[in-house]
Amino acid sequence: MTREEAMASHPAGKGRQTTEEPVDETQEPEPWLLDARDRCDACTAQAYVRVYLESGILDFCSHHYNKFGNRITAIEVRDEREKLYEQA
Ligand SMILES: [Zn+2]
Repeated sequence: MTREEAMASHPAGKGRQTTEEPVDETQEPEPWLLDARDRCDACTAQAYVRVYLESGILDFCSHHYNKFGNRITAIEVRDEREKLYEQA
């Protein structure tokens, strides 16, 4: 691209459309990974934490994650317990 072309394609070079729409940040609710169908693997309560292991996936309720979470070597943890606080 030559310098002239660069100037011509610059927004300020044509029409002066500087009216930028204010970005309406209508926050969508957080898309949760876990829902009421996901159940704790240690009991049958609703799962709020998903733990990714090398051997698979475990779902835990808040109670059982508190109990087992620190004993598990997880690759990744998806902690959605804040849902519990939102509902309060
Ligand atoms: Zn549980």
